[in-house]
Amino acid sequence: MTDFSLNLNEDQLQIQKWVHDFAEGVIRPVAEEWDEREEFPWPVVQEAAQIGLYGVDFLLNAMGDPTGLTLPVAIEELFWGDAGIGMAIMGSALAAAGIAGNGTPEQVMEWVPQCYGTADNVMLGAFCVSEPDAGSDVSSLRTRAVYDEAKDEWTLNGTKAWITNGGIADVHVVVASVDAELKSKGQASFIVPPNTPGLSMGQKYKKHGIRASHTAEVVLDDVKVPGSCLLGGKDKLDAKLARARENVSTGKQPAMATFEATRPAVGAQALGVARAAYEYALDYAKERHAFGKPIIMNQAIAFKLANMATEIDASRLLIWRAAWLAKNGTFKNGEGSMSKWKASETAVRVTEEAIQILGGYGYTREYPVERWHRDAKIHTIFEGTSEIQQLVISRAISGLRIE
Ligand SMILES: Cc1cc2nc3c(=O)[nH]c(=O)nc-3n(C[C@H](O)[C@H](O)[C@H](O)COP(=O)(O)OP(=O)(O)OC[C@H]3O[C@@H](n4cnc5c(N)ncnc54)[C@H](O)[C@@H]3O)c2cc1C
Repeated sequence: MTDFSLNLNEDQLQIQKWVHDFAEGVIRPVAEEWDEREEFPWPVVQEAAQIGLYGVDFLLNAMGDPTGLTLPVAIEELFWGDAGIGMAIMGSALAAAGIAGNGTPEQVMEWVPQCYGTADNVMLGAFCVSEPDAGSDVSSLRTRAVYDEAKDEWTLNGTKAWITNGGIADVHVVVASVDAELKSKGQASFIVPPNTPGLSMGQKYKKHGIRASHTAEVVLDDVKVPGSCLLGGKDKLDAKLARARENVSTGKQPAMATFEATRPAVGAQALGVARAAYEYALDYAKERHAFGKPIIMNQAIAFKLANMATEIDASRLLIWRAAWLAKNGTFKNGEGSMSKWKASETAVRVTEEAIQILGGYGYTREYPVERWHRDAKIHTIFEGTSEIQQLVISRAISGLRIE
């Protein structure tokens, strides 16, 4: 076990500065442009791959850190640069986490690198759980996976909704129902390799924020994958289904296990957006004069900033605690959910207050705070809405099946 410390070590401080420099020098100057274009920012992701910020080695190094803090520290800086581009760089990590959380060591070795490709041939991963009628309620997935024993082959059919990198990814990790009667206990995760016939992109969504991140439907029409693409393998799935049919606990479900592990990282994304807006508003409040003095000299404005600073620090502490616990213990009271809930709601409030502090300028697209406000909002929705986080926490603290 590694002690919890608020002092980042030398490696972490270096990574923090390295990501910050990239966010400041490369991402921020083009953030507005890619938000307006609403397109995947390939040149920026390629540049991130060239310096090793987008790539499997960076992810594995960060995830391998025994304190757990390296990843949230790096993500905060990345999203301080821009959340849409940050999501384009981080989107593949969700697929990688889905593979790492459910796959055999051989599957992890084979498929996680293919979610990233190389510096000269960038590839993407997508993690496909949500469906038009199943977002929070993951137990209702309609996508079906049917096994043909003679061919050792699975056939997938269904439609996935709101998938980050959906349809443009090289590797799609698809959660599907194998036995619908067992609800979430009858689900399994599958790799759909690059260029598999039958997988196509449905509609690409036009979004409120993180517009540089690609979000689309994924249509699975008789998609056939070999038995080796079932994450964890057939024996493990058969044993799990047998236990579920006997009504014995089967442990964590594939999609839920992935989300649980990634929540502090999502909190760190929101934190980066919140900090960007706070810093901007603080500088602005010192510069902007009204009634003959800087607006920060009014308590009404200074107290807003004091509140923003405190909420941001509180969020970071919850995120670091959850990230450390994920590596050095277990979550007891929904600490992962606490961190994501607090940071995402903080980001929405802080970015709104930043608009207020900038007044009319804040409401225009000439200043970045309105974009940060739009970008902040997604964090209260994806990877578990704020209501679902509160459900997880209330169940953890009470031991009761709160509905
Ligand atoms: C930009 C973007 C990117 C995304 N990326 C991905 C991705 O890569 N992969 C993926 O699989 N999914 C992805 N999603 C989907 C996302 O995870 C879902 O949208 C989210 O889980 C909410 O599901 P829903 O939209 O169906 O809302 P619903 O589940 O319909 O919820 C609607 C409202 O009801 C509330 N609610 C629902 N159930 C309860 C309850 N039991 N108690 C209290 N309140 C409740 C919710 O909190 C919410 O306020 C993405 C979504 C967006 C917008």
